[in-house]
Amino acid sequence: MDFLTLTIGKQKNIALIAHDQKKHELIQWCETHKEILKGHFLCGTGTTARMITEATGLPVKGYNSGPLGGDQQIGAKIVEGRVDFVIFFSDPLTAQPHDPDVKALLRIAQVYDIPIANNKATADFLITSPLMNDEYEHNVINFHQNIRERASTL
Ligand code: PGA
Repeated sequence: MDFLTLTIGKQKNIALIAHDQKKHELIQWCETHKEILKGHFLCGTGTTARMITEATGLPVKGYNSGPLGGDQQIGAKIVEGRVDFVIFFSDPLTAQPHDPDVKALLRIAQVYDIPIANNKATADFLITSPLMNDEYEHNVINFHQNIRERASTL
């Protein structure tokens, strides 16, 4: 399978998502790393985005609420190359009505080799990485070639 080399820019497009029991932890995390986050483009699922903006003053573009398709919107942005970094404080102890959407987002982030943190420790390591201040080239499955090959062999 051939790969395309894509570049995650210096200014990253960061999606912020937190399940309800994790929202205050994510807001506190955003406050802690506010100076770094200011230098990037922020978006998030609807409620999370609004609560972060209200608490920290950081501009966070809000999509729909997670259970109403927000995770899917962010997944689609990953596919389009418009989201290239995800902080997702998911709640491992509470059943979610939109569990399939959560799995889909994790899967598509993996397919597109997107840095994604599911807990605070990982998020701390990611946000303080020297790579935050640099461009980063990564290899992603060549989706054009993938379609050509599938169409000609199936
Ligand atoms: P919310 O969605 O930010 O709108 O609450 C997050 C989620 O539960 O996936």
